[in-house]
Amino acid sequence: MSEERDANIQEFKLEPDCELRFEVESKNEKVILELKSGMAEVFGTELVKGKGYVFTTGAKVAVFTWQGCVIELRGKTDVSYVAKETPVVMYLNAHAALEQLRKKAETENSRGPVTMIVGPMDVGKSTLCRLLLNYAVRMGRRPILVDLDVGQGQISVPGTIGALLVERPAAVEEGFSQQAPLVYHYGHKSPSTNLALYNMLVSRLAEVISERMQANRKANASGVIINTCGWVKGDGYKQLTHVAQAFEVDIILVLDQERLYNELVRDMPTFVKVVFLPKNGGVVERSQSARAEARDARVREYFYGLRTPLYPHSFDVRFSDAKIYKIGAPALPDSCMPLGMKAEDNLTKLVAVTPGPNLLHHLLAVSFAASVEEDVIQSNVAGFVCVTNVDMERQSMTVLSPQPRPLPKTLLLLSDIQFMDSH
Ligand code: ATP
Repeated sequence: MSEERDANIQEFKLEPDCELRFEVESKNEKVILELKSGMAEVFGTELVKGKGYVFTTGAKVAVFTWQGCVIELRGKTDVSYVAKETPVVMYLNAHAALEQLRKKAETENSRGPVTMIVGPMDVGKSTLCRLLLNYAVRMGRRPILVDLDVGQGQISVPGTIGALLVERPAAVEEGFSQQAPLVYHYGHKSPSTNLALYNMLVSRLAEVISERMQANRKANASGVIINTCGWVKGDGYKQLTHVAQAFEVDIILVLDQERLYNELVRDMPTFVKVVFLPKNGGVVERSQSARAEARDARVREYFYGLRTPLYPHSFDVRFSDAKIYKIGAPALPDSCMPLGMKAEDNLTKLVAVTPGPNLLHHLLAVSFAASVEEDVIQSNVAGFVCVTNVDMERQSMTVLSPQPRPLPKTLLLLSDIQFMDSH
């Protein structure tokens, strides 16, 4: 074995309740994690001893152990250290409290806890969701993950909100299995771009989840974990209170920010339990460009897969065969609106889009609605295609699609989200 290779093998002995944190930053780098002895978990998913878990550029990982363990890392990490102070015990207590409520719901055949996780950016909201879902599913529960973070979500592509029934722990490298998620197209990377539409979709998703829970006793007792956006001030705060109302949440876990915690204690009805939790010191802050890269990686994963490669199709679609719309016309002052309409109505209006170079690199949502007569905005979407070329002479566009041609005879909804296909 060469010396260079040896230098890239690190072994860590972890005491109980400790956490090994590492990051892979260099381009095209790969780090393999292996549990040599003891027991350990990554964000609530148990590691299998002797199995190599592969992490690629951009990964920021924590391996936590309750009992103590030995871990080996092979490959170049940019950061790697063991931390003794973590709030994981407090997170486990939160899980135990939720589990009590699930037990109660099970015996009474009622709804289990609907929990919302809030906090500013980069405090570990998504990670806490994952941990709580993993712990629940490891106890035999079937909780629902609702992801309202349109910028850095875990379901489908950026610019959407959605829900997923969690039936097994998240895969260590890839996260939760994306079988049959319920997805709504919003089309922007921040809720502030069109708050009227965002709130409308949140209400719709809440309604559908509530119906589905009533039809599935196990999911109903297991409850819901809701991940939210890190936009918590002003209209962002109002947006959070709307989520709480729409989903009729029972518990709000506030990560890191006492101000937000106090505001929620003040404004929520008394039957909503608001709990403050400290953030994990290991959560990594991400710059604007890191966020943009993460969004890009998410879209690439949607089309090409991560560990298990996917093989998307590429084909031409004639403009005359596509019905493309976007949601929301430019806001006009109320005085310019037709009688009886508010300016806000414009923001949730379906507007026909003339196909042309304006579509290039954009994602298009494939709606389940077949025509404009249906409630297109409140219909969920089947999936996404990406426009990789526009040919004005032939009046057609080339799309990248998870499904083979032809595109279903449905409506396509234009998203702000763009993706440059470099394959
Ligand atoms: P956002 O502002 O995008 O909503 P967030 O609050 O949801 O962010 P996360 O996405 O959970 O934050 O975490 C940010 C990053 O930190 C992720 O890449 C995650 O893998 C990493 N991370 C979380 N917890 C730890 C930890 N204990 N040690 C090391 N890295 C961590």
